[in-house]
Amino acid sequence: MSKYDVVIIGSGLGGLESAYILSKEGYKVLVLEKNRQLGGSLQIFVRDKAIFDTGIHYIGGLDDGQNLNQCFKYFGIMDKLNLIKMDMNGFDRISFGDDSNEYWHAQGYDNFVEQLAKQFPHQRQELQTYIERIQDVCNYFPLYQLKEDDAPIIATKHLDVSAKDFISSIISDTRLQSVLGGSNPLYAGDGSKTPLYVHALVVNTYIESSYKCIDGGAQIERLITKNIKANGGEIRNYAEVAKIVEKDGVVTHIELKDGEHIEGKNFISNIHPATTMEMLESSKIKNAYRNRLIGLENCTSAFIIDIVLKPKSFKYINYNMYHFERNDVWTGIHYTGEMGFDGYCIFVPKSSRGGEYADSMTILAYMKFEQVKEWGDTYSTIPKHRDSRGEQYEEFKQRKTEELLDLVAKKIPNIRSVIQSVTTSTPLTYRDYIGAKDGGLYGIAKDFHDPLRTFISPTTKIPNLFFTGQNLNMHGVLGVTVGAIRTCGVFVGQNYLLRKINNS
Ligand SMILES: Cc1cc2nc3c(=O)[nH]c(=O)nc-3n(C[C@H](O)[C@H](O)[C@H](O)COP(=O)(O)OP(=O)(O)OC[C@H]3O[C@@H](n4cnc5c(N)ncnc54)[C@H](O)[C@@H]3O)c2cc1C
Repeated sequence: MSKYDVVIIGSGLGGLESAYILSKEGYKVLVLEKNRQLGGSLQIFVRDKAIFDTGIHYIGGLDDGQNLNQCFKYFGIMDKLNLIKMDMNGFDRISFGDDSNEYWHAQGYDNFVEQLAKQFPHQRQELQTYIERIQDVCNYFPLYQLKEDDAPIIATKHLDVSAKDFISSIISDTRLQSVLGGSNPLYAGDGSKTPLYVHALVVNTYIESSYKCIDGGAQIERLITKNIKANGGEIRNYAEVAKIVEKDGVVTHIELKDGEHIEGKNFISNIHPATTMEMLESSKIKNAYRNRLIGLENCTSAFIIDIVLKPKSFKYINYNMYHFERNDVWTGIHYTGEMGFDGYCIFVPKSSRGGEYADSMTILAYMKFEQVKEWGDTYSTIPKHRDSRGEQYEEFKQRKTEELLDLVAKKIPNIRSVIQSVTTSTPLTYRDYIGAKDGGLYGIAKDFHDPLRTFISPTTKIPNLFFTGQNLNMHGVLGVTVGAIRTCGVFVGQNYLLRKINNS
C-alpha cells in the first residue's frame, strides 16, 4: 500500500496550494520539488543584500472582501503577509516614447475612471463603459468571484473576443486605447491573439486593489509550506521527477532523476502539461491528446535586468512603470533580434530596510527563445547541473543590457549612475530554474481564435493523474489559486471547497 494519497510534482504556487487544500482535508500528501528553493516563480534571490522577485512583482484582490484575500484567509496566511498597498491613484503608470505624459491606472473602479478622465475628459463616458464591461466579463467567471456554480467553469461568452478589438470598439481615442492595454506585459498581450477575458480578469484584480510583498513574494511560499507541514503534509526539495509510470491504466509511481521510486494513489502535476506528457510512460494516452498538449504555443519570454542600486541613490516608487516606444502596445511582443527592444516594464521592490530609498530595481523586456537558441543545449539547473554558456553568451547579455539601459535612460537619464551591480536573466534562465517551456513567461498562450483549445482540464485521460498550476485556467497568483480550487475540487467537491473558503 502506498504511503501517499497524493504526490504533487512541483512546488509552484499551484502545487503548494493543492497540497494545503488536500492535506487540510485529511489526504496524506507529498510535494516533490527539483530545486533547493520551493515556490517556483514565488522564489526570490539576493544580490549584495538586495532582494529580487523572480515572478511576483505585485498582487491584486487582497483588500478585505476581495477574492484573493478570502483565499489567503483560507490558506491561513492573509494576516501574516507583509504587504504594502500601492499608489491608489497610479499603481501602474504607462508612458510612450513620443509623449512626456504619464498615464495612471488607479485602484477602485470609480477612481480608475476619474484619474484617466482628467487626461481624457472627452472619453469619460467611454471609460465608464469600459470599466463596466470589464466587470461584466469577470462576472461570467463565477469561480473568480468564489461563487458556487454547477455550470461549466468556462463561460463560453467573451472567450472568442479579442482584447485589442474590444478596447477599440469602446474607446475612440487611440492614445487611450493604448493606455488601457498598457499593462499587457502582465499577460504577454498580443493583439492578434489575446482574448478579452484574459485582459479583463488580470486588470480587474489590480483595479480592485494592488499590493507589493515587502521583502519579496517568497513569504507566500514560506507561510503555505509551514501550514502544509502543520497539516501533516511532506515536502522534499532536490527531488526532480524524471518519469511518471503507468500500469493497467493508472499511474503507479514516479521515478526521480536519481532512480528512486515513489508510489502514490494519485498524482498532481504542477509542471507544464507538455513536460508532463514527455515524462509519462503510458500507452493509455492517445497520441492526439499528447500531441495537442505538446503542440500548444507558449507565451513569449523575457530579458530581465535586476539592478542593485547604490545606497540612497534612488527613491522608492510605489508603482510600476510600463513604457512603450510606439503607441501600439499590442505588437511589442513580436520585437526580436536586431529589431531591438520596443519597450519595458520597471518594478521596484519594497524592502524593509530601505526606508524612503529603494534597494533594487527590475527591468523586464520581451525576448523570444530564438534569440538564445544557439545556447539552448547548455543547462544551468539547480543544484547539480551547471554548464558554462561561454563567452559569447556573456557578450550577448552585456550587449542586450546596454541596449535596454540606453532605452531606459531616455526616460530615467541618471539610470546608469545609480547602478551598483547588475544580474541578468534570459529565456534560458526561466527554462532552467522554473522548468518553463522555452522560458515562456506565463505558460500556454491563450488565443481568442480557438479559445477552448488553450483551456486545460485538471483531469487527464488517466484517472489518477491531474494537472494544476498556471497552465490550467490562467497564470498569476489569482489564476493559479483558481486553478488549485478546480484541481482539488475534483477530489473534495468544488462547491464544498468554495463554501470552506468563503467561510474562512
Ligand atoms: C517574470 C515574471 C513576472 C511575473 N509577475 C507576476 C506578478 O507580478 N503577479 C502575479 O500574480 N503573477 C506574476 N507572474 C506569474 C506567476 O508568477 C505564475 O503564474 C505562478 O507563480 C506560476 O505558478 P505555478 O503553480 O504554475 O508553478 P511554477 O511557478 O511554474 O512552478 C513549477 C515548479 O515545478 C518545479 N519543477 C519543474 N520540473 C520539475 C520536476 N521535473 N520535478 C520536480 N519539480 C519540478 C519547478 O522547479 C517549480 O518550482 C509572473 C511570472 C513571471 C515569469
